[in-house]
Amino acid sequence: MLRFCKNCGLLVPHDAHTCPQCGAPVPPPAAPAPGRTAPLYDAPDREDEPAIEAMSQTATTITMILFAIPIVGLVLSLVWSLGGTHDPARKRLARAYLIRTLVVAAAAVLFVLVAALVFSAVLHSQLAYSYYYYR
Ligand SMILES: [Zn+2]
Repeated sequence: MLRFCKNCGLLVPHDAHTCPQCGAPVPPPAAPAPGRTAPLYDAPDREDEPAIEAMSQTATTITMILFAIPIVGLVLSLVWSLGGTHDPARKRLARAYLIRTLVVAAAAVLFVLVAALVFSAVLHSQLAYSYYYYR
């Protein structure tokens, strides 16, 4: 706990009884309130969300390899996300993978749409016609 000298305002070392600059007596630090030993800024325990025991390295690796198989991976991540497993860690991993798959798929669809629009616009532009037909 930081203490300042009441006389000159100097920051006083925590074990000092007098101010090192002006010599004025410094009162001892206030004792912590009874029953509170942990700092106030400690995160509260989240009892509503029990900790999930992680899968082993081997199980995680095998699961990721399974997810990488084109159709099988999607089906597995869907099934496990929707509760087809008793392991909460596997369910969480499946959900993470499913979200990643959806994001990647959405990005791919968007890319193809934009590419098709650009290609179509260029193909039908006056510039393209003049290039192909009026040379
Ligand atoms: Zn002082």
